Amino acid sequence: MKRRLFAGAAAVITLAGDSRPRAGKAMSELGIVENGSVGVDERGEITWVGPDAHVPRQWRDEATIIDCRDRVLMPAFVDSHTHLVWGGDRNDELVARLRGADYEEILAEGGGILSSVRQTRALDDEALYQQSLERIARMRRCGTTTFEIKSGYGLDRATELRQLKVARALASEGGYRVKTTCLAAHAIPESARTDATTRAAWIDEICTSILPEVAAAALADFADVFCDRGAYTVEESRRVLRAAHALGMGIRIHANELGPTGGARLAAELGASSADHLLYLDDDDRRALREAGVVATLLPGTSLVLGKPYASGRALLDAGVPVAVATDCNPGSCPFENLAMVLALACFGNRLTPAEAICAATHNAAASLGLADMVGSLQPGRRADLLVLATRDVRDLVAHAASPLVEQVWQDGVRVA
Ligand SMILES: [Zn+2]
Repeated sequence: MKRRLFAGAAAVITLAGDSRPRAGKAMSELGIVENGSVGVDERGEITWVGPDAHVPRQWRDEATIIDCRDRVLMPAFVDSHTHLVWGGDRNDELVARLRGADYEEILAEGGGILSSVRQTRALDDEALYQQSLERIARMRRCGTTTFEIKSGYGLDRATELRQLKVARALASEGGYRVKTTCLAAHAIPESARTDATTRAAWIDEICTSILPEVAAAALADFADVFCDRGAYTVEESRRVLRAAHALGMGIRIHANELGPTGGARLAAELGASSADHLLYLDDDDRRALREAGVVATLLPGTSLVLGKPYASGRALLDAGVPVAVATDCNPGSCPFENLAMVLALACFGNRLTPAEAICAATHNAAASLGLADMVGSLQPGRRADLLVLATRDVRDLVAHAASPLVEQVWQDGVRVA
């Protein structure tokens, strides 16, 4: 590969700085270089960023030039919360919910997550890989090059491991940038829903069998628990996440989505990398998250699809909590794949500004995955994962939500869409 020069962009959104998650005012400081250029070396690493007028002569002579006049250059999106490896679909439930059925009732009756569990278990490895590959390819066409992928549609040892292997294969065979998360504690398995002994045995199995096996095979970077009403209690979640931590995994938590159920406090107590959803928080919860350095991940697509309230992004920003935004891409509560559209929802629903939402869906999402020294900003030393937008003003991503503004997607200095 030759060196490349992305030349003369109306604006380069650099988000230059260190790799810690940003909070407060720092989230709106995008480090914009007007009439800027970005140089990428033969290995796909960014080595030069600055005003176009200062581009070294050598770059102009030797590099392949990508003309970015009247365009915005920005870091590619980082989707830090997805469940994108699953089988089948739940479009019948979508119609039922639009006719008035309730998500929690559907789950209680054995639908919802449990329906996806049945459909996922029924697929062989190859079919599961192919369905997931189609999805992740669409997501990258929308501008995302880095993905967190959770298991959680197995709810048994074998299928949880298979899901994580498929997620790893999307990286090793598919060429996608992926971090994986074991979410065996997603829903309570059907067999354990009415019997306390079976339920306790399932949690034992997660802690003493599934997580150790996942760790031994290096299948997951993180563990996650759905700590909420109708799912796992705080005590159960603490046990699972402590076991994961002891095995060297990072921690993420589905918290406070359906009620003020204590998940956010648990995230703070355990020093989680991310607490996600967060529809029901009070001032003490927000303070605890800030003091523990937990990234608050907003998933406004889920609020829209389920007709739930939006988490107060403004209150989190004002409290100094670093905020990320992700799709939650999953078969039921939010099958959205387009993070640019969800970023706009973070503005209209969670009341972030466009600049804050862009930081949330790039640098802060990367920081929550421990990848901010690699992606999420455009500065020397980072991978050349970047987007060319067909506009001169990055705020158009919000103003014209879901319009096809993402013109080019580059990963490691190679054009992938
Ligand atoms: Zn989720």
